[in-house]
Amino acid sequence: MKWRNALVMVLTVALLLCACAPVSDSTKEPHAPSAASKVTEPSATQPPTTEPPVTEPPVTEPPVIEPPVEDPPEKKLTVCIDAGHQRYGIFDKEPNGPGSDVMKTKLAAGTRGVSTGIAEYQLTLDVSLLLEQELIARGYEVIMIRRTNDCPKSNAERAQEANDSGADIFVRIHANGSENSTVSGALCCAPTRNNPFLPEQVIDNSIRLSRLVVDGLCDATGARNRGLMSTDTMTGINWCEIPVTIVEMGFMSNPEEDELMATDEYRAKIVQGIANGIDAYFSE
Ligand SMILES: [Zn+2]
Repeated sequence: MKWRNALVMVLTVALLLCACAPVSDSTKEPHAPSAASKVTEPSATQPPTTEPPVTEPPVTEPPVIEPPVEDPPEKKLTVCIDAGHQRYGIFDKEPNGPGSDVMKTKLAAGTRGVSTGIAEYQLTLDVSLLLEQELIARGYEVIMIRRTNDCPKSNAERAQEANDSGADIFVRIHANGSENSTVSGALCCAPTRNNPFLPEQVIDNSIRLSRLVVDGLCDATGARNRGLMSTDTMTGINWCEIPVTIVEMGFMSNPEEDELMATDEYRAKIVQGIANGIDAYFSE
C-alpha cells in the first residue's frame, strides 16, 4: 500500500503543476492597443466630452460712436515763393532753358534803392515773408525757396526746386530798376504764347496768373499798372513746369517808389494785392 499512496501523491503533484502552468498565447500581444481601446481614445478633432461647457463672460461693449461724415481732406492749394536774388550774385552761366544754347548768368546781383539804399534781395525777402503769412492766413500751403539772404541757388535751380515741390504755382518776387529815375509802376513777366520751352497749358496759365497778379497789386497799391512784360529769354520762367510769374513790384530807381516800398503800409498793400490776384487765379 505504501507505493500506491506514493504514486497517488506523485500524480496529484503532477496534475497541480500542470494546472498552474501559465498558458502562453503567442497570438495575443499584451501591449498592442485593442480595437475597443482605440474607440475610447479622444480623437484629435473631437474635443473631449468631459470638459465643462464654456460659459462666456458677459461682454461689456463700448458704445459705438459713429465718426462724423466728412469729405476726405482736400489737398491745399500750394504756392511756391521765390524771393529774388540773395546776398551775392552768382556769375557762372547756365542755359536759359532746357536744351538751350543761350547761356545766362546764374543769378544776377539785383538792384538797390536809389533813395533808401535797401538791397533788392532784402526787399524781396521781406515782402516774400509777409506774402507767406498772408497766403497761409488765406488757407494756402506755402513753400519758400529761401528765408535768409544766403541762398546760393541759380534761377534754373530755383525753378526746378519749385517744379519738384508739388506747388501749383510759382511766384517770384523782384523789384525793378531803370536808368530813368522817373519810370515807376509794377509789372509781371510772363512767357509769350510761342515760348519754346513750356507746355501750352503752363504758358496759358502763366499769362493768366501774371495778369491777375499785376492787376491785383496795382488795384491795392495805386501803382501805375505797366501790365505784362512778355519774354522768352528769362531762365526763371523757361525752366518752370508749373505756372509762373515774376512780379516786379516797383522801381527802386525811382526815389518816391523806393521810399514807398520801404514802408510797412505799402508792403502790406503789395502783399494784399498779390494775394488777391492769386485768389482770383484759383477761383476762375
Ligand atoms: Zn530782380
